Amino acid sequence: ELANRMSERAVDVIKFLMAQGQMMKPGDVIDADLAELIASEFGHTVKRVAASDVEEGIFNVADNPENMVARPPVVTIMGHVDHGKTSLLDALRQTSVVSGEAGGITQHIGAYQVEQNGQKITFIDTPGHAAFTAMRARGAQATDIAILVVAADDSVMPQTIESISHAKAAGVPIIVAINKIDKPDADPQKVRTGLLQHEVFVESMGGEVLDVEVSAKKGTNLDKLLEAILLQSEVLELRADPERTAEGVVIEAKLDKGRGPVATVLVQSGTLKTGDIVVAGDQWGRVRALVDDKGKQLKTAGPSMPIEVLGMQGTPGAGDRFAVVENEAKAREIADYRQRLAREKAVAKSAGQRGSLEQMMSQLTDSGLKTFPLLIKGDVQGSIEAINTALEKLGTDEVQARIVHSGAGAITESDVQLAQTSNAAIIGFNVRANAQARTAADQAGIELRYYNVIYDLVDDVKQAMSGMLSPER
Ligand code: GDP
Repeated sequence: ELANRMSERAVDVIKFLMAQGQMMKPGDVIDADLAELIASEFGHTVKRVAASDVEEGIFNVADNPENMVARPPVVTIMGHVDHGKTSLLDALRQTSVVSGEAGGITQHIGAYQVEQNGQKITFIDTPGHAAFTAMRARGAQATDIAILVVAADDSVMPQTIESISHAKAAGVPIIVAINKIDKPDADPQKVRTGLLQHEVFVESMGGEVLDVEVSAKKGTNLDKLLEAILLQSEVLELRADPERTAEGVVIEAKLDKGRGPVATVLVQSGTLKTGDIVVAGDQWGRVRALVDDKGKQLKTAGPSMPIEVLGMQGTPGAGDRFAVVENEAKAREIADYRQRLAREKAVAKSAGQRGSLEQMMSQLTDSGLKTFPLLIKGDVQGSIEAINTALEKLGTDEVQARIVHSGAGAITESDVQLAQTSNAAIIGFNVRANAQARTAADQAGIELRYYNVIYDLVDDVKQAMSGMLSPER
């Protein structure tokens, strides 16, 4: 690639390297110093570009405080399997169709909007915390409010607890939808008390979390749920500047046979227009058309609006950030740069750089963090509680263990994702990671630690934490 960029023959570059005593073949990775040496040897002027130079000014363009207006909330639905997430998303989608909104049938584009009392609400169409966390792992936060669906006939279950941990880790407020209240054995009160143990305090229990009893099946109280969302979003004072250049996040992307690459994006600031040149992840394109969730072509899409973008050169990844840039040359430069970065990262990963507890600690110390985030999975609730208590006791004024999530059962992919976004180490007590989790952990470079003696576990964490206190160790 270096040869290519210098318009030289690869064989000449390789010959030069051989003369330096470096045996290399095309595709091998060289570091920046060697690249600089080669380039100047071949008579090129080298200018080192930092990531900040290439990407400068594209993201986080300043809002103009005078232009700030209220924007619709973006909502994700989470909860245990079979508690009715999909049913609720479908039922809510129906409400807008029934209320006679123009355009009729909604298309599945990855997110949709409904209207309640003239105010819009955006729903992310993939239920569960997997998509939510995958996005966060890529540095994007799309969600303002999480709806936690709990079936009234089943109450709080493992994935309910996971969802709570994910929402809390992201700092996203929760609204509880107690679902299936049409069922004869529904016990909403049991749900409320069940949530207490996980520090979700609904209003009737003296807390501030809104809860609504619904039936996705019968369509009961869906308007109440929508009102609760609007109430919560008023508290959040969600605002955006629609006048500035658009920026946001990719919700999903696919290669459509007829239309080419299609990316559904959520505009977070500014207004996206047809003809704009956008960069998304390591892809770029000129916006040829914008299609909304009703299948309607639009000229513009403002804050919190999900919209299909046609005209990308390739498909970006879900969770990639996108932004409008001033011209095609800039777009190409950024996309090229990111593709190169992605390749280098892949190479570094396959070279087997895995984090150890100690490395993690030193990274945390470097970043000035004085909490040690941990994710604990164990075989039984009793031992998990014992571990949590022991770890909490380890804390000093200077450094504290912070348990991002703990639960019974094997270590899953979702645990790995949560650990990744919270920078946490994963500890398994008498449990191991399943195959998907192992692969995910491998890819993310996250260390999994297994123990079967509580004392050993606590001792290791103690060691690691004392490392945090004395960097010279
Ligand atoms: P998900 O796994 O959380 O997406 O759950 P689904 O939406 O697929 O629902 C699981 C099952 O519960 C399905 O058989 C639904 O028909 C049923 N279900 C969902 N909501 C309700 C409800 O409000 N009342 C009743 N009786 N059943 C429901």
